[in-house]
Amino acid sequence: MKLVTYLYEGREAAGVLSPDGTEIYPAKALGFACENMNGWIDVLAGEGLSALKRAVGRGCEEAVALDQVTLLAPIPEPKQDMICLGINYMAHAEESARYAEESFGGERPYAVYFSKRVGEAVRPEGEIDGHFDMVERLDYEVELAVVIGKDAKGVPKEKAADYILGYTIINDVSARVIQSRHKQWYFGKSLDGFTPMGPWIVTADEFSFPPRLAIQSKVNGELRQDSNTELLIFGVDHVIEELSKGMTLKAGTVIATGTPAGAGMGFEPPQFLKTGDTVECIIEGIGTLKNTVK
Ligand code: MG
Repeated sequence: MKLVTYLYEGREAAGVLSPDGTEIYPAKALGFACENMNGWIDVLAGEGLSALKRAVGRGCEEAVALDQVTLLAPIPEPKQDMICLGINYMAHAEESARYAEESFGGERPYAVYFSKRVGEAVRPEGEIDGHFDMVERLDYEVELAVVIGKDAKGVPKEKAADYILGYTIINDVSARVIQSRHKQWYFGKSLDGFTPMGPWIVTADEFSFPPRLAIQSKVNGELRQDSNTELLIFGVDHVIEELSKGMTLKAGTVIATGTPAGAGMGFEPPQFLKTGDTVECIIEGIGTLKNTVK
């Protein structure tokens, strides 16, 4: 199932795509009491995906045609900062070290975690604000994002899948100069408009676990990143076990699992983004998230 947030007649709402993909069944019309995706995730944490599946199976008289709405980011305003993994594909670890002119020994004993402020996630087809008055070296990073479906605390690897609502795509847009200059990556990755997300959350039941999905990005149609999520150094199960051992991952938490090689900084010379560029982030089984730099 594909969970969406959309704008219809000036109002934001959460819903699910119909089985044929042409309509949206509003969550409220299916009997879920919620005002938005954050509220819906809380409701689903209690009722579970099977309740949603049954509701979708019954159909919906208040369905809205998909071509009548504007899709927003599935979680336009995450309740907490997004949790991100840094350099979580070996080939990207190598290109990052090369860019920073550091040596890389090929070992990564511990995961790198950081966070990213998402004031408002950018919608599919929306604009990435390049902030070119303060940003040089604007870069893209396609990433598989995990959406936690119910509060997770002390979850062992074997149970990690039970806590995942689904998966979406994010572009971890990064201002490389700011990112390096301030030592911590937070500021350079948290500017307004730096988190395109979408086009929807695909529920976890549609994937095997751990998900092994082709992941790509294109800039102006040219293939830049091309990998598979099976190459994550620290997998989704490891991350949920490790983090939840010491911190509660609340329902609605978004975890971005890191980007593969082929970010703009990995090219010689580097290929950073400029005004008018289109970036497509593509993940098998989820879809394409396309945005334009303004
Ligand atoms: Mg990233």
